[in-house]
Order: sequence, then structure tokens, then C-alpha cells
Amino acid sequence: MKRKIETLCVQAGYEPKSGEARIPPVAQSTTFYYPKTQDMADLFDLKADGYFYSRLANPTVAAFEGKVCALEGGVAAIGCSSGMSATALTVFTLAGAGDNILCASAVYGGTYNLFGVTLKKLGIECRFFEADAPAEEIEKLIDGRTKLIFAETIANPAIIVLDIEKIAKLAKKHGVVFAIDNTLATPVLCRPLEHGADIIIHSSSKYLDGHAAALGGVIVDGGKFDFEGNERYPSFNVPDESYHGLVYAKLKGAFGTKCRAQMMRDLGAIMSPQNAFLSYIGCDTLALRMERHSQNAQRVAAYLENHPKIEWINHPSLPKNRYYELAKKYLPNGQGGMMSFGIKGSVEKCAKFLEALELITQETHVADVRSCVLHPASTTHRQLSEADLKAAGVPHNLIRLSVGIENADDIISDLENALKRV
Ligand SMILES: *Cc1c(COP(=O)(O)O)cnc(C)c1O
Repeated sequence: MKRKIETLCVQAGYEPKSGEARIPPVAQSTTFYYPKTQDMADLFDLKADGYFYSRLANPTVAAFEGKVCALEGGVAAIGCSSGMSATALTVFTLAGAGDNILCASAVYGGTYNLFGVTLKKLGIECRFFEADAPAEEIEKLIDGRTKLIFAETIANPAIIVLDIEKIAKLAKKHGVVFAIDNTLATPVLCRPLEHGADIIIHSSSKYLDGHAAALGGVIVDGGKFDFEGNERYPSFNVPDESYHGLVYAKLKGAFGTKCRAQMMRDLGAIMSPQNAFLSYIGCDTLALRMERHSQNAQRVAAYLENHPKIEWINHPSLPKNRYYELAKKYLPNGQGGMMSFGIKGSVEKCAKFLEALELITQETHVADVRSCVLHPASTTHRQLSEADLKAAGVPHNLIRLSVGIENADDIISDLENALKRV
């Protein structure tokens, strides 16, 4: 029986055998014991499943991987040390020097740097596109060396809701892998694999963990992309000499296997057992939390929309929002806790507002249980001129608010008091 998402949050990923711990124990061990040489040889040949070294796999990390894999509806998942490493490993599994990838221009700042600056140094070109552009325009960027299309379900911090099926159709037409960063929506609010995405990546440092306790990332392989005979992906179709001549395209879950066996082996950005444990138990309450984050955010957005000192507000729950219709399709059960808004007036006014908040704290983090704010123009983006800020889609008065799971009345009254002081 296919269980519902609330049940999977609580139950998926780990099943104890008789007498074993009810929740996954922290397997704080680099290595694993085998008395028989052949048993270990079979592991190295990928003929048997099991653990031998925690850089490749670990039982606690496997429990968390299993949970996220079940939530997204994939065939395999790989726990990573951070969301950034999950994104980097995804690219390196598919692309090399001379190749290119496509990425929506409004993405997480770290991803923008990785794709625009670091990948360029390695010979991989990133072609950025406007997520709202017509498919025909985005299509022009695809050529024979395009290995990946990448975008976020809900872009951070622009809060753009992606038309997933528009991009999926394009990717399918050209036989290109389509990966989605589903960090801000979470599988509770949206499962992009059901809309045609091939790979999901997460920064589990955000809602999945939920407590701002553990940095982490996950890659989920949807398992449906057919690499076999696809000329775009020779590295999946020729024998991997570094792995006894394995041809990945012939395997079920080709992407996930290549990613772990090749890239995790060589780059070692694996999740730690302790962080996997924290992220696993964090996910137990994910469905409940996303419901509350979404409800609170909807109330806060409706309040701010009518406030005379607010110039504009961006949350897809608002009927006037540009992404309201897309959110109805892709995020019908809640639009999450992330929003941005602009205060009328100067940069100084924004700083004054932030300092007047008492409950809501200033942080660079987002998407955990506590409400928090950030003013990019005076922190993360402070080196940019007003013109550059505009080009980056971050107006000088933009305030990013991550609505937590406190009582919504308390969040609103904190905002109200602070707005009185500007
Ligand atoms: C935070 C974040 C990342 C990066 O994740 P880390 O765990 O901080 O490395 C990637 N994508 C999105 C949408 C994020 O919010």
C-alpha cells in the first residue's frame, strides 16, 4: 500500500529488527567488520549491499536517505555534507570540461556562485535563463553539450514559483536531465518527480532538519531517466575503468549509482552520521511543521499586504501574487514560510525596522522553526551598488522573512511594533 506523506515522514527510512533500537542508532564508525574476504569483495564489486567505509555509505545516513527517498518518491538517495555539495556532486556526475548546463537565474546565492564562477574555472559553462521566460526562449540555450537543466521549486530569496512541467517537457524533448532544488517547498508541499523532474536535491539544513541543528544535503534519483544509448551522456554508456568496466546506463538507478560510486568516492562530501541522525528525527515532524509554516505565513502575508508602510510583498498565498496560479497547481497544500517584502523608504529604515524586532531575529539562515529575517542590502549583498542590487533582483528595501511555527499572533504583533518604530 502506498502510504501518505504524513505517515512517511514519521515511519519511512528505518525498520528495526527484533530487539534493535526503535530509531536509527548513530553508527559513529568509519569502517565495518567482515570476517570473510569474499563478502567484502562482493561489496566492492557492487554485487552485494552493505557498508564498508562511511565515505561511501553508513547505516545512520542510509536511514535518512531512505526517508527522503520515500518522501520524494525516488529510487535512491545520497546524503551529502551540505546542500552545496549535493548540487556540486549532481553536476559532476553529469558534466565535465567543455559541457554546459542551464540554470534559472533566480537561485540560491551559493548555487549562483558555484555555477557562474567555480564551474567556469573547471570548464563547465552555465547558461542562466529567466524561469518565467517562454519555453521556446529557454530552448535556444540547449545544444549538444548541454548536460543538465537546474532550477528551484520556490526560488530563494526571489520566491518565484517554477512552472515545473514547462521545463520538464523541454528536458524530455532534448533528452537532458532535469534537476530541481526542492529545499524551500519540501516533498510535503511539492514532489517535483511527479511533475517530470529527474533528480531532486535538498539542502537538508533547512526545513528537513527544521531545527537549525545540522548542515546537510540530499540527492534523490527519480530513476526514470533513460541514459542507455543517449549520445548526450557517453560517460554513462562507456565502461568506467575506475570501476572494473561498469556501464552505468545499464543499471537501475544509473544516476544514483554513478554519483555515489564515482563522485562520492572521489570527492568525499558525505553526510556525517550525527547530522543524519538529527536530520532523520527532524523529518519526523516535517508534515506538521510545513502545515504550520504555511498557515502562519499566509496570515502574516495578508497582514503585511494591507500595512501602509509596506511597499510590496511577495508570497504565493496572496491572490494578487504573480505566482498564485502556479502555486495553486504545484503547492496546493501550502506555500511554505518564506516571503519577501519591501518597506517604504531608505536602507536606513530597513535597518531600524530589523533592530526594533524582538521575537524575530536577524540571521543568514532560513526555514527552521524560529521566525527570522535578513536585509540583504545591508548584509549578504552590502558590497553591491543600488543598480547592481536591482540587477540581482534584490531591491535595496527587500526584507526576507522566514516565518516560523510560533503563534502567528505573536509574529504579527512583533512586526507591528517594529513597523511603528520606522
Ligand atoms: C541553503 C540553500 C542551499 C545550500 O545549502 P547548504 O546546506 O547551506 O549548503 C541550496 N539551495 C537552497 C534553496 C538553499 O536555501
